[in-house]
Amino acid sequence: QPIFRKDYRRPDYTIDRVDLRFELGENFTTVHASLAVRRMHDTPAGAPLVLDGENLVLKRVAIDGRELPADHYVAGPTSLTIADPGAAFTLTTVVEIRPQDNLELSGLYRSSGNFCTQCEAEGFRRITYFLDRPDVMARYSVVVEADRARYPVLLANGNRVETGELDGGRHFARWDDPFPKPCYLFALVAGDLRCHDGEFVTRSGRTVRLEIWVEPDNIDRCAHALRSLQAAMRWDEDTFGREYDLDIYMIVAVSDFNMGAMENKGLNIFNAKYVLARPDTATDDDYDGIESVIAHEYFHNWTGNRVTCRDWFQLTLKEGLTVFRDRLFSADMGSPAVARIGDVLALRTNQFAEDSGPMAHPIRPESYIEMNNFYTTTVYEKGAEVIGMMRTLLGAAGFRRGMDLYFERHDGQAVTCDDFRAALADANGVDLEQFGRWYSQVGTPVVRARGDYDAAARAYTLTLEQAPPRGRDGGELLHIPVAVGLLGPDGPLALRLSEETAASGDTRVLELRERSRSFRFEDVPAAPVASLLRGFSAPVELEVERSDADLARLMAADPDEFSRWDAGQELARRVLLRLAGDVEAGRELALDREFVAACARILGDERFDGSLKALALTLPNERLLGQQQQVVAVDALHAARQFAVRALARALREPLLAVYKATAPQGPYRIERAEVDRRKLRNLALGYLVALGEPDLIRLAVEQFELSDNMTDSEAALACLIDHGGPERDSALARFHARWHKDPLVLDKWFALQAVSTHPDTLDRVLALADHPDFNLLNPNRARSLLGAFGLRNQHQFHRQDGRGHALVADKVLALDPHNPQVAARLVAAFNPWRRFDAARQQSMRAQLERIAAQPGLSKSVREIVDRALAPA
Ligand code: ZN
Repeated sequence: QPIFRKDYRRPDYTIDRVDLRFELGENFTTVHASLAVRRMHDTPAGAPLVLDGENLVLKRVAIDGRELPADHYVAGPTSLTIADPGAAFTLTTVVEIRPQDNLELSGLYRSSGNFCTQCEAEGFRRITYFLDRPDVMARYSVVVEADRARYPVLLANGNRVETGELDGGRHFARWDDPFPKPCYLFALVAGDLRCHDGEFVTRSGRTVRLEIWVEPDNIDRCAHALRSLQAAMRWDEDTFGREYDLDIYMIVAVSDFNMGAMENKGLNIFNAKYVLARPDTATDDDYDGIESVIAHEYFHNWTGNRVTCRDWFQLTLKEGLTVFRDRLFSADMGSPAVARIGDVLALRTNQFAEDSGPMAHPIRPESYIEMNNFYTTTVYEKGAEVIGMMRTLLGAAGFRRGMDLYFERHDGQAVTCDDFRAALADANGVDLEQFGRWYSQVGTPVVRARGDYDAAARAYTLTLEQAPPRGRDGGELLHIPVAVGLLGPDGPLALRLSEETAASGDTRVLELRERSRSFRFEDVPAAPVASLLRGFSAPVELEVERSDADLARLMAADPDEFSRWDAGQELARRVLLRLAGDVEAGRELALDREFVAACARILGDERFDGSLKALALTLPNERLLGQQQQVVAVDALHAARQFAVRALARALREPLLAVYKATAPQGPYRIERAEVDRRKLRNLALGYLVALGEPDLIRLAVEQFELSDNMTDSEAALACLIDHGGPERDSALARFHARWHKDPLVLDKWFALQAVSTHPDTLDRVLALADHPDFNLLNPNRARSLLGAFGLRNQHQFHRQDGRGHALVADKVLALDPHNPQVAARLVAAFNPWRRFDAARQQSMRAQLERIAAQPGLSKSVREIVDRALAPA
């Protein structure tokens, strides 16, 4: 029962106005809906109206105020069909729903005793009968009624236009949203909440009220979210000329949420994880995550809400673009290189893996069974890379021109990815036809590079060639921007291409549109080393022959900070893969001397800030390394990486200790760039030192854990102690639990750190934690912190030879699926790479997949993932 992109048809009817009244109750909630429905001009008269609806108990249905006779409609399990309703009419329905039993967390549900909603992608149909598709845009007026004592705060989209008292201790509020919107942007909140407020004055001088609503205990954790929102609002005005359009902007933090956050018009609902922060509860990375998610949801107001998607196949239209916008924002707020490295690392670790497994799909999928399964790293992150390539090709000013035209043409519309590309092309008078293939392309393309230096002619020829993703064939030729620089013996060379007249700068963006093309650089004094794919200018795998010495040179001298990091990672990858080979062959292990020397140089290099040093000195993770192997050598990779960490720590013991001492905190926690850099470097040093296992060095972690005034340093120390094991681990975990067990977000860290540990007893501990009284499978954050962390991030322990890791995760998928299939489907994806492992592990994972597939009543969410995983490759 898949739905195909090619089958898109506009709806037969549309809805212009929606009046809703919610009577919120403890046992059931009644939803009254009056919809102004209109038949589309080319729909034949007499066509039935088919509304979506799920888990609704229909109490009443009327047209233009008259009850509909029973033979005029059919209410089925997923729809309400009305025969020949007319050309324009008001449809009234009354339904009952049970938010308190809604554990799927889709539609109207309860979290911590409050009411809230999540409608994207198809949750609105679980609230009332509707045309639940994004190309139906209506104006909403919403009345929320509830018990005043329990639910003093009543929120919905738009402006609060009326409030009042009702009988029986109840009260109500009416909200009107002046902007037409698709129903996936509907939101409602009712509860006992406190508000952290602020304001923002737009560039045209309007004052916007900003409200962050949280449970009473969390009121002292909202300042960073508010500052982030104000910064995002200013930035979107300055960078894209986009101003906010309502008089109020609300954010509500909830503890039970399937994803990160949701951009409902004027009323964002957030996973509390992306709102709440206080120095003692949130890490530097949490602060960054909040800044970027707050910005992301805010940016959706233009890219997503004012201009929305015609259908769900176009999801990357709003998500790829909005991720791209939030990345530009984060780069402007902090260090562009650090931000870019983080994004590329995540892309290679997660998206490249998705691209090479059973869930591989284009950024604009061709079909789906459960849309929620396609909120993927491919649609989001690779989608953002595709937008980024267009900006690279058009330049910042050209991209801005294209964005302006996009908003000018499509404000208030539901459009497609092709419409977006056409706006960029038309605004710049360029052709993006070939580029459009990125929207249909599946898998990670390969770019091969070869360089030839002609000493006599002082010319360097770089030949670039594109090839289909590994293991796939054919495919159309893509338009790929490859940013390059050349490094001479004395540093970066000014570049001059043969077809250019004047030289300028040390980076060129070469456009590869053919199978293969050569670029000739003139006036090159000596054989250079090419710095390729600077800033990761395209989401491809690069194949190029380079010696370790070439990489070491790039690592030391490439003027592009991203490329310096990338060269170092490539070198580390080689070193680790060779070590894994030595492990398998039973050879004695020794860490490459040149590599150690290069690491030592980075530690002392003044051009690197602390964050860059920490990134450069973090060895590639085991999942990334496994991607480079035919068959993932789980145990050998783990042994090799553990060995390398210790060997590096031994070799750099003194400089690392010196760094650790020199980076001691000078005062209370401050969330500032220089301080973040300092903590990153200090905690990197601590990690290496503790890995040596010497009592004096372990004491450093114990002391840091006990004395630090902030979660960044406490968490880092705790992570080291957990990997180390022993009595220090037990006492630190006990203290942490005693202090934080009433704080869900902090307790999530306690679970996650144990789940990702390298310690050999991790599986048994995770098994025990799954039975811990504080573990709650039904809370998505808690489930992810233990099981997601274990199954998706701990390659060595999840893929244990004995299969117990696999069995644990499969058990929990089966236990969760009947309640929350969306989260269960995320978890079962841990089995997607099963074909990449040895026969015994394949067998074990396949057996679990088959066991899950055989489960009667399995949800379609989990079924889709499992069926794809088991389908012939
Ligand atoms: Zn988004």
